[in-house]
Amino acid sequence: MGLPAYRAGQVFRWLHRGAGSFAEMSDLPKSLRDLLEEKYRLSALTAMRRQESADGTVKTLWRLWDGNAVESVVMRYHYGNTVCISSQVGCRQGCVFCASSGLGLVRDLTAGEMLEEVLYSGLESGAKITGVVLMGIGEPLENYENVMRFLRLVNAEDGLNIGMRHISLSTCGLVPQIGRLAEEDLQLTLSVSLHAPDDETRKKLMPIARRYDLAALMEACRAYYERTGRRISFEYAPIRGVNDSPEQMTLLAEHMRRVHGHVNLIPLNRVPGSQLEPGNARELARRLQQLGCNATVRRRLGADIDAACGQLRRKEAT
Ligand code: SAH
Repeated sequence: MGLPAYRAGQVFRWLHRGAGSFAEMSDLPKSLRDLLEEKYRLSALTAMRRQESADGTVKTLWRLWDGNAVESVVMRYHYGNTVCISSQVGCRQGCVFCASSGLGLVRDLTAGEMLEEVLYSGLESGAKITGVVLMGIGEPLENYENVMRFLRLVNAEDGLNIGMRHISLSTCGLVPQIGRLAEEDLQLTLSVSLHAPDDETRKKLMPIARRYDLAALMEACRAYYERTGRRISFEYAPIRGVNDSPEQMTLLAEHMRRVHGHVNLIPLNRVPGSQLEPGNARELARRLQQLGCNATVRRRLGADIDAACGQLRRKEAT
């Protein structure tokens, strides 16, 4: 608008204080506030429902300006509070074990909407947010440009100033975008949803495996590690009789050796309509460790309010 740069800084800071309208931005001249009101939409998210788990985890359903809705989850750890945010309204990946796939993809979230998930999660819960995981609804690397823009905004010094080392991004394994991400020089943690060490099993669980086989995925992961020096964490939800055999653990450990990866076992959460039975995550972690593979079991938070991995769903905003 041809205004001095400090005006943008003023608006930026007001947005971070949770301003719901330009009218509230009292250090801007009235004429400018009116002009902004006329030209732009302040699309603050509205909390439609808030559920709190026995373990302190809080899930919020947010209404977006167009009537769509997404969920985010605040998890409390002894070292700080982390918010798990959604990156799309719905998801088109169709993983059979995940509730987020149910209704397909409606649209991408904008960078601002993702930023607001973080900002308002902090303002609403009164908890200082110190970490962000892009592990809610949606495939973040499919919404690549908006997610990159979001990362730089959430990291901004005069904004939320959340360090890249406190941000994790999880992907179902979009090979070209993993290559692109490696070039961004970000200190974030990349997680890859693996869930099977052989193509046959992975194809049954995750449609994306039909597009990119394990050889291509593992090569992209190896290159990512070489380029960034940052170890990738591989998510693996044990499903009894599907991906938890001793042979599969041996194969998994081999993949991990090659890519210097770490396995994060996620106890399988129940989702409506799925017959899959959880395998034994602790036992598999021990087995992997015996095979010389670094493995941990993810803490299960918020399962009583359907806020755990794979349980977030697109809801109709009414
Ligand atoms: N689309 C991205 C981001 C989602 S992150 C991705 O696929 O990585 C959510 C994580 O929870 C993913 O690793 C996903 O595979 C896993 N997940 C999905 N459904 C699950 C379930 N029922 N139990 C445990 N983990 C699940």
